[in-house]
Amino acid sequence: MKYSFLDVGFTYRTLKDDLDAAYHGLMDSGMYIGGDAVARFEAEFAEYCGAKHCIGVGNGLDALVLTMRAYGIGAGDEVIVPANTFIATWLAVAQVGATPVPVDADPATMNIDLDLVPDAITAQTRAIMPVHLYGQPVACEGLRALARTHDLKIIEDAAQAHGARDGNRRAGQLGDVAGFSFYPGKNLGAFGDGGAIVTDDDALAKSVRILGNYGSEVKYQHDHVGYNSRLDPLQAALLSVKLAKMDEWSTRRSEIADVYQSALAGTSGLTLPVVADGVHSAWHLYVVRTEDRAALQSALAERGVASAMHYPIANHKSGAFEEEFGHMSFPVTEEICRTCLSLPIGPHLSVEQAHEIAGHVKDATRSLA
Ligand SMILES: *Cc1c(COP(=O)(O)O)cnc(C)c1O
Repeated sequence: MKYSFLDVGFTYRTLKDDLDAAYHGLMDSGMYIGGDAVARFEAEFAEYCGAKHCIGVGNGLDALVLTMRAYGIGAGDEVIVPANTFIATWLAVAQVGATPVPVDADPATMNIDLDLVPDAITAQTRAIMPVHLYGQPVACEGLRALARTHDLKIIEDAAQAHGARDGNRRAGQLGDVAGFSFYPGKNLGAFGDGGAIVTDDDALAKSVRILGNYGSEVKYQHDHVGYNSRLDPLQAALLSVKLAKMDEWSTRRSEIADVYQSALAGTSGLTLPVVADGVHSAWHLYVVRTEDRAALQSALAERGVASAMHYPIANHKSGAFEEEFGHMSFPVTEEICRTCLSLPIGPHLSVEQAHEIAGHVKDATRSLA
């Protein structure tokens, strides 16, 4: 493919000297669990999000699981989740023994439909988990008011939304707490697994740190049935190097999205993503919708343009959840799963290449008409 969908090696090639230096520094330090590299990245990422605390954990799924455990959310409790999301959102709720209560997507933003959330609240609801899907933050002001009324927590799934903003607030500051992922393909990706919990809540920060460290605060004193889920110091050292480039890379993503939004506007048979007023997307993915997905995907491949699907199977139809949720109907989510196609976006592409890709998309669309 001439235009690859994702190139995680790009960041290594771009920052090779600094990343290699960070690697050698960490290896020489002899601190292979915890230590300065983790503390430093945690402080930097908290500051980046505008939050008080960042606690590094093993991955994004664990960030959500540990957060719910710390809140005491478990069997008999319900957590409101979007129907349209990566399956990890639902898995986290299921793993603590609680029940995910799915809410369909808004057809414009493809995020959780905020108008449908109030009706999903029951006496068992403990939390709402908005997902900033494809990098677009859910506008949380209304949710915060709703959560206050019903005494619910807002747990952001910010795995795709590093640096996304709702007004002046960044993801990580839109609810009570946020879970981030540093999976290599994410906007801030490590060179292996990694994740973080970001919050202003002192007590929660302390609890999740204890839970992720065998339920122990003082060595050999275990007061909770904890986990082992910590951010690897080598990943932390490498993430610090990459964080310094985040703003530049986020700007590139926005520029590419702007090119697509204007060049592809009005293309017949193509529905473009809509960004809600007042929010700034981190543009983790650029997702269009088309009834001719398979044909468009192969016409693009013929022109050297890679594409992908996020996500082709709805969670309620997946093997893991079909038995319990398969009878439910989420028409907007099902339509997105059937028609979504993600075009290449990321710092590995230039603005010029984005124009070329947009040209190929228009060509390919016309060839199908
Ligand atoms: C990637 C992702 C996760 C899970 O993160 P991992 O680090 O892979 O465990 C959770 N939610 C969403 C929306 C994601 O995209």
